[in-house]
Amino acid sequence: MNRKRIAIGALGGTISMMADPSGGVNARLGAKEVANSVPGIEDLAELDLVTLHKLPSGSIRFEHLFQCLAWAEQEIANGSAGVIITQGTDTLEESAFFLDIFWQHPEPLVLMGAMRSPETPGAEGGANLQASVITACDPASRNRGVLVLMNDEVHEARHVRKMHTTRVNAFVSPVFGMVGVVQEKRVQYFRPTVRKPVLPVPLEYTKKVLLLEHTLSDDSDVVGFALKSGYAGIVVAGFGSGHVSVSMRDALIEAARQVPVIVCTRTGAGSTTNAVYGYPGAEIDLQQNGILMGQWLCPRKARLLLGAALWNGYNQEQIKQLLGHWGASQ
Ligand code: ASP
Repeated sequence: MNRKRIAIGALGGTISMMADPSGGVNARLGAKEVANSVPGIEDLAELDLVTLHKLPSGSIRFEHLFQCLAWAEQEIANGSAGVIITQGTDTLEESAFFLDIFWQHPEPLVLMGAMRSPETPGAEGGANLQASVITACDPASRNRGVLVLMNDEVHEARHVRKMHTTRVNAFVSPVFGMVGVVQEKRVQYFRPTVRKPVLPVPLEYTKKVLLLEHTLSDDSDVVGFALKSGYAGIVVAGFGSGHVSVSMRDALIEAARQVPVIVCTRTGAGSTTNAVYGYPGAEIDLQQNGILMGQWLCPRKARLLLGAALWNGYNQEQIKQLLGHWGASQ
């Protein structure tokens, strides 16, 4: 059988973590050790295995992800049918979405990890890697942008969230659900994936976006501090369907005269509303005062999209349009 070529880049995370003298686990394995522990994986595809980093995922920075992107693009240029990145699960939903903003190829880019380290009973990293290779090889995975593979479930980068600290079924796409499953060594999809406008890779990415979770009776002075410290955009994880207190409203309206401001929901599922509530600090008032609503996009992902837009020099109208695409239900 003519095996497809699949590139696997390892970034670290629990899938690569072994016991160390600290008494805990730490990222020690590279791509070869992770892949070679999966029986029969070489029969599925011709694997190109590269260790990019050995990091816990909380220490991944944008520069690592741009490096990953450049490596993955080179692998596609060299003839890979798909690319897999193994990383820690803690920030996997953000890495996946970040790469989705820039991934312009029809070939699948699959991000995956493990909840249990290799020495733990029931470690599922090998099964996740095998399912990722199956997914990356399948023509039905093309034109879906970046996918997340965990626990035999395929999720779209735009919708997936880590929603449990330790369980193997920690990854969920609230409201939308998984887009496919891997079963009997093949991937089966439930719907097409709607691709969104991809942004050019920026020349520089120094502009910072603040993500602020709004909480009961909090102070809005942090908004002024952020502007003074040079933040170029603000995303607020707001109450309910996109609401803030009167004092936060005043601070955000002032901020929106200087930088783009997006209000999302902190609830974890569902869209912000557009025209339901009319009180000061609710969506009608916020929009009338130049604030954008995140719609279906979770605050973490809105922060990444706004950053990518600012790095590309987008103005308020272009950001609104971009958010219209990426924040839509479809
Ligand atoms: N708990 C994490 C993981 O699943 C550690 C990390 O994100 O690096 O990989």
